[in-house]
Amino acid sequence: MTRTSPRTPDTPRTQVLVTGGSGFIASWCVLALLEAGHDVRTTVRDAGREPALRDSLHAATDFDDARLTVVRADLRADDGWADAVAGCDYVLHVASPTLRTVPDSAEEMVAAARDGVLRVLRAARDAKVRRVVLTSAFGAVGYGHPPRTAPFTEEDWTNLDAAVPPYQRSKTLAERAAWQFVAEEGGGMELAAVHPVAVIGPVLGPDDPPSLRAVRGMLDGAAPMCPPFATSWVDVRDVADLHVRAMTDPAAAGGRWLASAGRSLRLVEVARMLREQCGERAAKVPTRELPLPVARLLSRFEPKLRALRPQLGQDFDATGAKAERLLGWRPRPIGRTLADTADSLLAHGVVRGG
Ligand code: NAP
Repeated sequence: MTRTSPRTPDTPRTQVLVTGGSGFIASWCVLALLEAGHDVRTTVRDAGREPALRDSLHAATDFDDARLTVVRADLRADDGWADAVAGCDYVLHVASPTLRTVPDSAEEMVAAARDGVLRVLRAARDAKVRRVVLTSAFGAVGYGHPPRTAPFTEEDWTNLDAAVPPYQRSKTLAERAAWQFVAEEGGGMELAAVHPVAVIGPVLGPDDPPSLRAVRGMLDGAAPMCPPFATSWVDVRDVADLHVRAMTDPAAAGGRWLASAGRSLRLVEVARMLREQCGERAAKVPTRELPLPVARLLSRFEPKLRALRPQLGQDFDATGAKAERLLGWRPRPIGRTLADTADSLLAHGVVRGG
């Protein structure tokens, strides 16, 4: 069935490549671009994911099916990237190994992230793409530093001389490689990097993305107490919006842009907000925080806490003020995001409430 979305005569017709369209953030980027009137090509690793992706996008908005094309490409191989970028004005390079699957080794994770960025950038430069927006991460900004009270900003870089976990190391090395490539071999192609903090928000389909595991675990009652750490949060729809702004706004080129909706919140504060927002549906959400020494001890044995060990006792406070000031970005309050996240996880059957 072909559906048509509203397009005004002055809507600029541009072709945008979004890498990894089956992912949580990328699927929202595809949706935001279609709604803004751009034509979209997206890559997946598994062609079998195309029908579900199309269905979830059609459920969210009305668009002509021909405006979206889906192609196959893997960050670990050259095949497919030249075709993926051909004719594109812009690229949003969102795909990267995340905590969805545990990589065989830290080296493998770094290689897929960094070499993948270079593959995409090389292909984009050769295809005369105007600007690439790289989805970096707070992980490339705020790890490996001593405790501090001031929020992290775009001036900060993760300190790789410290013990930084593989995912954050992969994002830092990938972003550094991207800036170096564009400076030395970019041929005038522009780069902007977006750095989301902890991303939550509704899912477009019955997916269980890694970044919603904390909220899902709270709703499921999987843990009786919250792990002790604090981070800034941001809505996935606002992350997608910031990608589109970073793509088109002349002021965004050459910049790093933190996507943060505000001051950091401890997980236990998030749990309380979930209870306030969701009432009975949040009956299993914990109300207390695990004391730090206990969490540290348990993290030696308990796999979920072990995965959180680098975060325990930390406060990852980051500000999105630069994007608000210079790009007119307006992230929504996190309380609303939490309510929408819970509604969507319940509606798609990812969690059963009560
Ligand atoms: P996600 O749902 O797990 O999406 C990751 C995407 O990357 C998927 O589309 C995945 O494809 C793709 N991918 C992974 N390895 C790949 C490879 N070797 N070749 C091609 N594609 C590959 O996670 P997400 O949260 O949306 O993350 C998207 C981006 O945002 C990542 O760059 C991540 O580092 C960044 N980020 C996320 C957060 C957060 O809190 N969610 C915060 C900061 C930054 P498959 O579907 O085939 O696996």
